[in-house]
Amino acid sequence: MAEANPIRPCMLINGELVGASDGKTFPVYNPATREISAHVPEASADDTNAAVAAAKAAFPSWSAMGAAKRAVHLKKLAALLRENKDELARLDAIAMGMPVATHHYAHTAATHFDYYSEAWATIQGQASVNTPGFVTMTLRQPYGVVALIIPWNVPCHFLATKSAPALITGNTVVLKSSEKAPLAVARIAELVVEAGFPPGVFNIISGHGVPSGQILSRHMDVRALSFTGSSRTGKLIQEEAARTNLKKVILELGGKSPALVFEDANLDKAVAQTQFSIQTNSGQVCMANSRIYVQKSIAPQFIEAFKTKFAGAARAGNPLDRDTNHGPQADEVQYRNVLNYIEEGKKTGTLALGGNGKLESTNGFFVEPTVFLDTPETARITKEEVFGPVVIINTFETEAEAIAKANDTEFGLYAAVYTRDVNRAMRVAKALESGYVGINCTSPMTAHDLPFGGYKSSGQGREGLLYSMNNFLETKSVIMQIDEE
Ligand code: NAD
Repeated sequence: MAEANPIRPCMLINGELVGASDGKTFPVYNPATREISAHVPEASADDTNAAVAAAKAAFPSWSAMGAAKRAVHLKKLAALLRENKDELARLDAIAMGMPVATHHYAHTAATHFDYYSEAWATIQGQASVNTPGFVTMTLRQPYGVVALIIPWNVPCHFLATKSAPALITGNTVVLKSSEKAPLAVARIAELVVEAGFPPGVFNIISGHGVPSGQILSRHMDVRALSFTGSSRTGKLIQEEAARTNLKKVILELGGKSPALVFEDANLDKAVAQTQFSIQTNSGQVCMANSRIYVQKSIAPQFIEAFKTKFAGAARAGNPLDRDTNHGPQADEVQYRNVLNYIEEGKKTGTLALGGNGKLESTNGFFVEPTVFLDTPETARITKEEVFGPVVIINTFETEAEAIAKANDTEFGLYAAVYTRDVNRAMRVAKALESGYVGINCTSPMTAHDLPFGGYKSSGQGREGLLYSMNNFLETKSVIMQIDEE
């Protein structure tokens, strides 16, 4: 049967909306129904190289253009993102299962394009007369071609947080979407054309890590690369960069975030927020608090309340239905991966809620909200990122024990502490090995003007409204001798 409204995703290379040069596509399935949503161009090596070449050719005029002129295009794109927010939500829903009711990311993307379109005047170096006989200054200048590789869990958000600062600072861009969620990004490629960006300034390609992502990582003409995704891929990218042209690499990677709940905490708030953190986007959030440590004296109360909340708050269903707040896992690979961790968790800890996949009964990749108790700190499920609605609740007796358990991980993206004791809150916040700490709040609560990024294997570098432009600007020192007569 012919599709009523077929989606024909394209790539954007040198201002043209195109398919792959060899005609190759890959299917994207709706994870709630397993029906095909679209066939998407798989960028070949030639396509990837063509996108980089187009970006390289566009760089001289884009970087020479006044920043305020560049801003006009960002501003237009922000408006288009807002106008198309419902469609972008629908496209993410049928690609990776995010419920439309929880999709506010076209709006946050627009906010980023708006912000950077107005922040151009802060692209500034410094000057001094501290060296007698000289005037000295620094210039902040773009790198040239930058590559942006984004994950599938929040595509519109990552597209904007990386490309808006890269573009306003005068770089030209090749962005690669994730093979699991390329549809909203492909629609944004059309909006980029509508926003009037000159050809080659903002290229968008789709495809798998290999070949296109790998080629970008090793490309000699790519001078900086910003990546969000798994720690495994981040390391591969870093290796490629080191082997080739030592391009600057910014890495936002995985997490295994702890939330510490002390006996003096506001329990209702701690339960509601830690539950939301692991349930939202079906647990497919880098900073989700997947490990909760509760002080022993309040553990029975906390666990009962958490289970009730988790079981009741998640309304699983078709992501296109506005009543749904709990979608399927993004695809079969993610689904099987989460279920494997759950099976292993059953052998090492005590299953207290859920523990099942719902493929047979729903025909979609749904996983029940799942809670494990008493899991050893050394278990794989305690150490590795599950990326599903699966939480481990363990206990502690002392503050020192809580901190030691929280920090006993290779990750360090987000940590939370719940207590009414302000001294304890600050002691613990200082001791946590984490790029972000929530006090009496947890992820996904963040402030856009704070830096975001990981300690340890959770990443390198920081992103955020006030920080991301630095990721895309070189610093040049200029020293000028002055004739003194
Ligand atoms: P992933 O690493 O599998 O893929 C991310 C991107 O890298 C995709 O576009 C993919 O095609 C590409 N890629 C894969 N192999 C590559 C290679 N060899 N070379 C270059 N590119 C390659 O990650 P994912 O499954 O898409 O995303 C989930 C992961 O992202 C989780 O680990 C999550 O914690 C992390 N994440 C981190 C943040 C953060 O801000 N720290 C935010 C969201 C997600």
